[in-house]
Amino acid sequence: MAENNTAANAEAKKKANFIHMQIDADLAAGKNDKRVHTRFPPEPNGYLHIGHAKSICLNFGLAQQYGGKTNLRFDDTNPSKEETEYVESIMEDVRWLGFDWDDRLYYASDFFPKLYAFAIQLIKEGKAYVDDQDAETISAQKGTPQKPGMESPFRSRPVEENLDLFERMAAGEFNEGEKVLRAKIDMTSPNMHMRDPIIYRIMKAHHHRTGDKWCVYPMYDFAHGQCDYWEGITHSICTLEFEVHRPLYDWFIDQLKDSDYRPRQIEFARLNLTYTVMSKRKLLELVKDKHVNGWDDPRMPTISGLRRRGYTPESIRNFSDKIGVTKVDGTIDVSLLEFSVREHLNKTAQRVMGVINPLKVVITNYPEDQVEQLGAINNPEDESAGTRQVPFTRELYIERDDFMEDPPRKFFRLGPGREVRLRYAYFVTCTDVIKDENGEIVELHCTYDPASKGGNSPDGRKVKATLHWVSATEGVKSEVRLYDRLFNDEEPDGHKDVDFKEFMNPDSLQVLTDCYLEPFIKDSKPLDHFQFERLGYFNMDPDSTPEKPVFNRTVALKDSWVKAQNKE
Ligand code: ATP
Ligand code: MG
Repeated sequence: MAENNTAANAEAKKKANFIHMQIDADLAAGKNDKRVHTRFPPEPNGYLHIGHAKSICLNFGLAQQYGGKTNLRFDDTNPSKEETEYVESIMEDVRWLGFDWDDRLYYASDFFPKLYAFAIQLIKEGKAYVDDQDAETISAQKGTPQKPGMESPFRSRPVEENLDLFERMAAGEFNEGEKVLRAKIDMTSPNMHMRDPIIYRIMKAHHHRTGDKWCVYPMYDFAHGQCDYWEGITHSICTLEFEVHRPLYDWFIDQLKDSDYRPRQIEFARLNLTYTVMSKRKLLELVKDKHVNGWDDPRMPTISGLRRRGYTPESIRNFSDKIGVTKVDGTIDVSLLEFSVREHLNKTAQRVMGVINPLKVVITNYPEDQVEQLGAINNPEDESAGTRQVPFTRELYIERDDFMEDPPRKFFRLGPGREVRLRYAYFVTCTDVIKDENGEIVELHCTYDPASKGGNSPDGRKVKATLHWVSATEGVKSEVRLYDRLFNDEEPDGHKDVDFKEFMNPDSLQVLTDCYLEPFIKDSKPLDHFQFERLGYFNMDPDSTPEKPVFNRTVALKDSWVKAQNKE
């Protein structure tokens, strides 16, 4: 275990990035008693998505590499949007990804009393004031980056009056929007965030943890940096948009003035993926308006959606490592995420045969009631996975696509008079094509060569194709759900005057209810992974019942999408 850790450390160090360089420099300078302490700070206002996964892997990963710690902190400063359901899903997702905060679970709301006391301190020092103007007026006075802001007429209120008003705000004497508390910094600062930012507002909302105790709530910017400080965070990793907030966070910490220590904020570029929307607000809209079947719909880029789709924690962690961290915003091709899960499942997934678009085959020279068990390999990439038995019977299903009545030159699979191999079973030759009254093919008749058992050629003769199949009488009837991208456009939310929902792919979900799988899958449980030979990676969906197993296709075996697009 220790050796593994050392190897992992060495490997991680090799890929040193600008964050590692900063931490190394701090350690070399003896800062923070050589501690490395990070945090993952989600707002519980939605389910986590793959962008958050990157932040989780980064924050927990850094602590692991440096022998440090990571806190989980809920930034729950906005009671109107936050819910316990989100808190629980976030904890589940972080754990599922393979990380643990031990006993270091925090909420910004734990610090409400300290934040309130700090606001009082600022008022007493003449560094904060109560403003009676409404939000629009305050915003109109803010100016622009080129034009300095205007001072509020309430800016020079006496300390005593500010104290009295703020306490009465907290006691619930005023209505929402009637008053705010602002930090008194500099209305002419070139940094807009320093122009007397609002630090407390009146909200008469029920908070998921503090109930109705508070009528005033700190703004995110007033809470975030101080929470980091009080938790002893050494490196506050955040996304680039917070770079301009850093002077404000520093100003607040300066006012706390009780030690030399301060968290170092390091910004990195957030993850964007092609064909994906990533903002929680937009994902919430998809859920609320039922464009998808909930936060964990397998088409969603949420961690819970990816899990249900069949992604593994390892594949997401590997993806996060592969893309690394940068200082420049960019967009990662979603096929890289798909590659990561394919790569992991190729090594680990149990192989089975499944037919999702069945065509019946009757082997006319095979005994009617015979069930023969044939040996099959569980995972060619992993010998230790062993073998299993697959039942062969007179009636089988093959994939409709694997037969053509009038095959073109390059079609090597089954056709009238042709011989192919049924995987692990026998060579079979098609002797008859049975059609219904509409001329549609309903059944094939074939003969088998008993000497080709196991799919081995009895006399050196060759066949050009090997097909997968399932016994019609022993196979398990199942539902299979195939997914395509949720959006048809590379950047669905990148169009100025067009709503992102306009780019939704109407064919993103295809439900096939007449599929047949090897009996092996009978013992599986939700989230178990499989490769259905030649069709892709699948996993069992939680909707499964013993009567009706349900499987999701995680990803096809190859990236067929790019090719299909290029052809059009
Ligand atoms: P969204 O923009 O999707 O609504 P958010 O930033 O409001 O996300 P938070 O709950 O505040 O969501 O995010 C928690 C942490 O995850 C923050 O540290 C944030 O920087 C990080 N994070 C959010 N989105 C991404 C992303 N796309 N890539 C990397 N990190 C992200
Ligand atoms: Mg945020």
